[in-house]
Amino acid sequence: MSNRTSLAIAAFLSFSFSAAGAAQTPVNWEALTTETVKVLADYIRVNTTNPPGNEIESARFLKRILDREGIDAQILDTVELAGRRGANLYARLRSNGSKKAIALVHHMDVVPATQNAWSVDAFAGVVKDGYVWGRGAIDMKGFGVVQLMAMIAIKRSGVPLTRDIVYIANADEELGSTGALVFVQRHPELLRDVEYLMTEGGGNEVHDGKLKYYGVGIAEKRTYWQRLSVTGTPSHASRPTKLNPVPRLIAALEKIAKYETPLHVTPGVDKYFRDISRRYPEPRRGWLADVKKSLTNPTAREWILSDVYWNAILRNTISLTVLQGSPKTNVIPAEATAEIDIRLLPDSDPAAMLATLKRIVNDTAVHFTTIIQPKTPLENPIETDLFRAIERASRDRDPGALVTTPMLTAATDRPTYRAVGIISYGFDPFKLEASELQKGMHGNDERISVANLGFGVKYLYDVLRYAQ
Ligand SMILES: [Zn+2]
Repeated sequence: MSNRTSLAIAAFLSFSFSAAGAAQTPVNWEALTTETVKVLADYIRVNTTNPPGNEIESARFLKRILDREGIDAQILDTVELAGRRGANLYARLRSNGSKKAIALVHHMDVVPATQNAWSVDAFAGVVKDGYVWGRGAIDMKGFGVVQLMAMIAIKRSGVPLTRDIVYIANADEELGSTGALVFVQRHPELLRDVEYLMTEGGGNEVHDGKLKYYGVGIAEKRTYWQRLSVTGTPSHASRPTKLNPVPRLIAALEKIAKYETPLHVTPGVDKYFRDISRRYPEPRRGWLADVKKSLTNPTAREWILSDVYWNAILRNTISLTVLQGSPKTNVIPAEATAEIDIRLLPDSDPAAMLATLKRIVNDTAVHFTTIIQPKTPLENPIETDLFRAIERASRDRDPGALVTTPMLTAATDRPTYRAVGIISYGFDPFKLEASELQKGMHGNDERISVANLGFGVKYLYDVLRYAQ
């Protein structure tokens, strides 16, 4: 009762004395950064290595913090995700409801850590040398904590909201995506009024301390994995036979390795190249400004495709990865298998890709099996309040900064949410050196700087404010 009274008074006071959209109680950003560091270190200590996941523990951890802040939170889907001791977490900060909600989404699971390759304990939540160290610091507990603390800062400072802020923490993004799939399937009513969503899949490009651009992820490649197998007749390797499946498989793989997938410029990628062209001197500026045309110019084409990222966003890609023949040198095996990692552009047809591969291999002894079916294609509009809010908050920090739309070559849970109509952006709250990102994400000594955590919380806080 007393709480309600004081809240009412606070609401009255803030309404009378502040401009719309401004915070009523100023945020102490330094104190909030210290708090953010502590929360992240604690979160890293909740070991959610997937497999198995064990996200029930991380969901409880997050719920305790939300409860303390008076933000309504629920732990969901424990029965559906019981096999992995998993759970999803859902919370909502209420607005006046005049506009639709914005969801902040992260996954609680992390990939395994090879402990002896780390210089610190990957799950001890070590804070030293200005960094929080540990598995998940970047992917993606660091971002999940930034989302949490930005939402808490909005509540504490009393920013008037026209859009509810929804906070979702999912299980199992790194392996099966079952957390997001179960959540979307079982709780449509919780997502019905959600217009926008922010999660991983963006990327701000920083080289040698210099920001190249803020990258909002609006599209991603579609993971499509195939297993190739050839059966033969096992026998002693001292007498070679035509029934050895290994050379036959190798011949098929050789053809696939030599195959060059066609180049194709999607609208988002076209915009990305046009945007970044301003950062290059001629003739490269001209080449990037019209990438479709430049790909017909051999010099321009060679330069553009020499960048592994650019190459990957301009075509479907195929990487030969797993190979299995005989386990023994002197045994001709009964079967030889290989796995290939195909990443399709959002507007590519998986069936057409498979038909092409079969045509190229041209050997009916080679069997194709789909290991991973591609998710729903992900493309999002950019003429939105949220995109404009991100642009504004970015330019507050770096006047004249480029805010563009790089395509993600890897996969996230966004397609699952996009499939129910939510505009789902990849948003990166950090300014990470490209080298640091490459090394830390899924690698050893993953870490995020205290400065980046402070930067991220305030950046996201502003984005959420501006999107109201
Ligand atoms: Zn991730």
